[in-house]
Amino acid sequence: MSTTHDVINPATEEVVTTLDLVGVEETDAAIAKAVEVGPAWRAVSPADRGMLLRRFADVVEEHTEELARLEVTNAGHTIGNARWEAGNVVNVLRYYSAAPERLFGRQIPVAGGLDVTFKEPLGVVSVIVPWNFPMPIAGWGFAPALAAGNTVVLKPAELTPLTAIRLGELALQAGLPEGVFTILPGKGSVVGERFVTHPDVRKVCFTGSTAVGQGIMRKAADQLKRVTLELGGKSANIVFADADVEKAAASAPMSFLDNAGQDCCARTRILVQRKVYDAFMERFEAAIRAVRVGDPGDESTEMGPMVSSGQRDTVRSFVEDAEATGHAAPDIAFRGAAPSGKGWWYPPTVLMAHGTGDRAWREEIFGPVVSVMPFDDEADAIAKANDTAYGLSGSIWTRDVGRAIRVSRAVEAGNLSVNSHSSVRYSTPFGGFKASGIGRELGPDALDAFTETKNVFFDTQA
Ligand code: NAD
Repeated sequence: MSTTHDVINPATEEVVTTLDLVGVEETDAAIAKAVEVGPAWRAVSPADRGMLLRRFADVVEEHTEELARLEVTNAGHTIGNARWEAGNVVNVLRYYSAAPERLFGRQIPVAGGLDVTFKEPLGVVSVIVPWNFPMPIAGWGFAPALAAGNTVVLKPAELTPLTAIRLGELALQAGLPEGVFTILPGKGSVVGERFVTHPDVRKVCFTGSTAVGQGIMRKAADQLKRVTLELGGKSANIVFADADVEKAAASAPMSFLDNAGQDCCARTRILVQRKVYDAFMERFEAAIRAVRVGDPGDESTEMGPMVSSGQRDTVRSFVEDAEATGHAAPDIAFRGAAPSGKGWWYPPTVLMAHGTGDRAWREEIFGPVVSVMPFDDEADAIAKANDTAYGLSGSIWTRDVGRAIRVSRAVEAGNLSVNSHSSVRYSTPFGGFKASGIGRELGPDALDAFTETKNVFFDTQA
């Protein structure tokens, strides 16, 4: 049964296009095709597979502006961010285009023969993408998976399928054989579920909410299917009194407002050492009020709308509608501006946490809302930072090198930055501790997640 989905521009609420959603039969057909073309793709020589991925990167690069504009329209991303996101796909493809020729095994000394290991492709790999970073997250899955010799079926999020569909077309244009990389826009409960239950899909590479990720892992156990899970976050931004407080306060807004706060790495819990709390808040307020929220297609815009009315309702349930949903009303310290009228706008909002039990302090909001709390000393900061189910990202601001090292080793998170808010580089590993996920993407070791190690012993005595 075919169903349709209206893709809506979050800044205008206008219907951009209506898509036919893929059902189980088409999903099964795409998986069957991916199985069929697998041996030929795997047999492409390493140099040629690398060359095809570089060609794919070149074609994506030629279409950067088109892809970026598509993301502005589909997801409400600012044009600056959207260009970076398309560029990230190019960079990730180029980075992993070097991998086929470097998929090294090992030669291990043993008695009586020669022992070597091979990195074998898994077969058909599925990639399930959320709506918040449709292009980069797709690329972090498909680029290393293809480089390792797998075929890929990819499901974009229902809300944001357009750039993924275009990337699928560009792959064919670049010369990737039909069926090696197939985009299947459809529902999570249909296409996503089928990826998990289909016996020919050997791996699920999932990015999304912790609850859905847990469900996928449970079901994947039936077939001992490999999973990589990149899930939610509630990251801490820790500002010590010995830091450059001015710089910490000036940079804090975009550490949680980037992509309208719909960022798994958003630093949504700010911990400030009590001695500099007032000084920090004064500068932070000025910086929040200066953030330019508006038309995402305008070059000077820093923050666009929320992706959907549903996501904005979720954010409101933590702030305006907290009492209506049975929670204590939060203490709003100050807010930035946002357009009114059509579009799913929400203003940058800063809450003063009452305590670590606050719902807004504990739960991932996935919107432009941050909570701030003072701390006393290093031990208190570490305890508060780690008092969360999540462990994805975080920042530490201090001029004391010893403290920077101690605290970055003590915070339980996969991606930390000291005196900055950087999280993701295609050449370094990315992923979460605790409820933020399992496995790592990107960086030099990502190929391990898309291959099986095979050990072969050759008897030289025979
Ligand atoms: P979501 O879990 O609702 O959906 C993610 C994807 O999974 C979508 O494509 C969806 O269609 C699909 N899906 C839904 N139900 C499924 C099922 N039963 N089986 C298989 N697939 C299913 O998440 P979302 O709302 O799209 O994205 C926001 C979440 O993603 C946030 O929690 C955020 O923190 C997280 N996220 C994490 C990272 C990271 O790298 N750690 C990056 C971006 C987003």
